[in-house]
Amino acid sequence: MRLPHLLPALAATILSLALNPASAQTLLNDGFARDSRQPIDQAYTDHIRKYTTDPQFSSRLVDYLPASATVPTPAKVLGDVAGAPDMLPYAEDVYKYFRQLESASPRVKVFSIGHTEENREMIAVAIADQALLQGAKENGERLAKLADPRTIGLDDSKAQPLIDQSYPVYYITGTIHSSETGAPTALMELAYRLAVDDAPYIKYIRSHMIVLITPVVEVDGRDRMVDTYRWHKAHPGEQWPRLAYWGHYVAHDNNRDAMGMTLNLTNNVLNTYLGWHAQVLHDLHESVPFLYDNTVGDGPYNAWIDPALADEWAELGWNNVAQMQSFGMPGVFTHGDFDTWSPGYLMFLAGMHNGISRLYETFGNGGADTVKRILQPEEYSRTWYRQNPPLPSVMWSQRDNNNYEETALLSTLAYFSRNTHHFLENYYMKSKRSVEKPTLDGPAAYVLPADAAELNRQLQLLNVLKLQHVEVQQLSAAVTSSVPATKRGDKPTTQTFPAGSYVVRLDQPYSRVADALLDKQYWAPDDPQKHPYDDTGWSFTQLFNVKTVRLTDAAILKAPMTPVVDFDQASGKISGSGSIYAIANTGQTSLLPLVYALKQGHVETAEKAFDAEGKHFGAGSLLITRADESSLAAMLRKLSLDAARLSAAPSVATHPAPAPRIAFMHTWLGTQTEGWWRLAFDKAGVPFAYISTQTAASEGDLRGKYDVIVFAPVGRSSSQDIINGLPKWGNALPWQKSEITPNLGLLDSTPDMRDGLGYDGLAHLKTFVEKGGLLITCEDTAQFAIDTGLAPGVSVATNDARVVGSVLNSVFVAPSSPIANGYGAGLPVMSANGMVFNVSNTLGRQGGRMLMDPYEHRPTGRGGPDDSDITQGRQLAEPEVLPKQQPWQPKQLNEDQMRNNVQVIPVQYRPEVILRFTEQKTLLLSGLLDKAGSIAERAIVVNAHLGAGNVLLFANNPVYRGETIGSYNLVFNAILNFDHLRQPVAAPAPEPPAARTAPAAR
Ligand SMILES: [Zn+2]
Repeated sequence: MRLPHLLPALAATILSLALNPASAQTLLNDGFARDSRQPIDQAYTDHIRKYTTDPQFSSRLVDYLPASATVPTPAKVLGDVAGAPDMLPYAEDVYKYFRQLESASPRVKVFSIGHTEENREMIAVAIADQALLQGAKENGERLAKLADPRTIGLDDSKAQPLIDQSYPVYYITGTIHSSETGAPTALMELAYRLAVDDAPYIKYIRSHMIVLITPVVEVDGRDRMVDTYRWHKAHPGEQWPRLAYWGHYVAHDNNRDAMGMTLNLTNNVLNTYLGWHAQVLHDLHESVPFLYDNTVGDGPYNAWIDPALADEWAELGWNNVAQMQSFGMPGVFTHGDFDTWSPGYLMFLAGMHNGISRLYETFGNGGADTVKRILQPEEYSRTWYRQNPPLPSVMWSQRDNNNYEETALLSTLAYFSRNTHHFLENYYMKSKRSVEKPTLDGPAAYVLPADAAELNRQLQLLNVLKLQHVEVQQLSAAVTSSVPATKRGDKPTTQTFPAGSYVVRLDQPYSRVADALLDKQYWAPDDPQKHPYDDTGWSFTQLFNVKTVRLTDAAILKAPMTPVVDFDQASGKISGSGSIYAIANTGQTSLLPLVYALKQGHVETAEKAFDAEGKHFGAGSLLITRADESSLAAMLRKLSLDAARLSAAPSVATHPAPAPRIAFMHTWLGTQTEGWWRLAFDKAGVPFAYISTQTAASEGDLRGKYDVIVFAPVGRSSSQDIINGLPKWGNALPWQKSEITPNLGLLDSTPDMRDGLGYDGLAHLKTFVEKGGLLITCEDTAQFAIDTGLAPGVSVATNDARVVGSVLNSVFVAPSSPIANGYGAGLPVMSANGMVFNVSNTLGRQGGRMLMDPYEHRPTGRGGPDDSDITQGRQLAEPEVLPKQQPWQPKQLNEDQMRNNVQVIPVQYRPEVILRFTEQKTLLLSGLLDKAGSIAERAIVVNAHLGAGNVLLFANNPVYRGETIGSYNLVFNAILNFDHLRQPVAAPAPEPPAARTAPAAR
């Protein structure tokens, strides 16, 4: 049933005022009347109505298509209308249509904006009146001045005419999430409407603003999704393969890359957004019925945005909901449980660059089938912000989804086009305030003190800022600055920064993103928002393990400094004389890649620290002989490394640095979390063979082929899942290239995704380790190693801590392990949920039948807790003193417990704790931490021993979203020293009490 004009007259009048300030008499919906003189495309219109499952899922904006004698409709390419059932176009066909539009209409221009990891093209399509497109260059120059008010001396009187003359750019992006399939066709039709429709409101849009569209953001994933959908249509009645790979590296997390900027799609969208100086970035998703405009979302909002942005969100979000309500479309809301804290989402590129970020979740079926959908109570419940909720169950089509997307976009574009001046004023104001940040709210700058030991990681951090379009300077002389105290109320100190120190000035247009990335986050444990949507902490300063100094004193901005244009010049230096090249290990992530990159020469690893030619070289430093200096120098520059020539070999034990043969093992259950690891290895230049658990099942001699197997996290999978794979009741699920699936099977392929590692595979893995291999595991794969007996003496410790993607502090327990090479005393790590390990000197469950609850110290009796109890009437029998045991240590066994106990692990096979969390009061670095007591001081990185090999277990994720550069070397060090990981075993000594207060990591 359809009920037009739902709203009371008063609200309608207010809305129509907002929509059309020029004519207050206009009724709400009249603003959206079509031009009755323009003919409609009857066949296309008939199909729209046929595929819409209920008229209330459409609106007067999209229930017809205007006809054009010259401009092709989407049906020309699709063979049917946008959103037609049973059909998904490949990106290539979507592009073909946009290019046809461009040829047929002067109101459309298509731009290539870059390529994906698999070299598929990304495009942006600009739509506006011909005059606007022809003037786009001049308009862009005006917008550039508003975007960087330094160019007009922050002079409002100069900004005003620019605002008056300019028209804004509204950037819409589709299908970043490949299983959310509707946006490309919705955007094809939207483009047609904007170019062709003569409805007055559409003419108003195209004459007052440029609409920019990227119809497919994740192009690699789109093509794979279309493949699996085609397979599904060719196999009616069968189950169809889940989308194993979306992009080349990650799946859903492609929408978490707006901080780390590791994926091509993120960079291409940001460069387009900033290149056009757009005001809005509006990203389309499809996972919530029927339209959640999470422009308003929920708190806590990101702490670094301009407050004006929050007001713009409210203005656009609530207006959009009200407008949709006026069309009688149910299930539209804008407040909801999505918090707007993390700036990792694609749309947030705008939020962090003085624009407006927006995101729609519409209702998608994961393909173009028309099916019955049954909603959950929380989805169809009526709440204060959703007075007209979605229906409990619906027959739903891709066309319904397209109707919602297009109607909402058209109505919000209409609102925006009537208020362009207002949004451009805000744009200028936000940009200006970003430049004025040092004096308005601070800080003034972040300084990365010149430090050769940190340079490699500094450059990686600065490169992220560069990709974020943040300007970086370098001090040309030493400067002493006042440094604010870290604790409220403490006195400031001073610090001298040497020449060459990097400075991120915050009097620049994109200061907010630099501040948000370099600062620390704090999520209060009692925040009313109990379900953080994503990570609560991300401080890049900590995760890259670099020192940055946050300065609030604006005097630093007057210090002599020059812009850095080329980071490549910062390293690649070779000093001294001699024929041995020594590279000090200071935690550079490119030492392992260097070993692979060196085509000639010989590399040795120093087992201990040494001094030579007046320089200090830490354990794990590399010594290269017989190298060709010119090719080495080029390599060092590329890898951000420096070297020193030594005239004689240092007197230190060394061993050859191998180039280990690495296999990267994935499951067919999920490939995203391992995808971040794969990306890190590829970017670093660490080669590997890519195998699946199925390969391990069929390969009897893994050790003959590989030295290291990396089993990165699957993502919340159980050991049973890993071994068993998917249930095999139904049909086989192939993931391979075929005529109807030309885009599958590029990374890996299988005739049936359902098979897991199996017990053969498990046995092969066990043999691999026993024969001296290194198996690296993390989070759920660490749990798998524990469950399957690959990590004797290690278990996951139960705890009740609340951690949601937080940066926590850790300290090395085994600083002499090669895994700790290049590190200081401690290290900030990313913890997804507070996972921690227990280690033990025995196998199996601890303890037997419980007869009495044990006493921890002494029984009830005379005296105090440290006194002896005395039995009356006999001499005192003192018990043996219980050895003190720290939370990260195994419980020590006494003679009695060891006697004839087959479960006792021989000393040389006992697990070695490498890294543990710090004590409670220094544990939280960034994000949310509650009930820290149950994880404080617990082990998080453990090297377990099995036969001649090692199983390395991580409770933190050391390789995550391109954000954890500081912990990459825990993995790279282990690989580089895979055959030297066992430390000499010393007799276990009781821990001295002083070790309780370990040095806090920075
Ligand atoms: Zn999505």
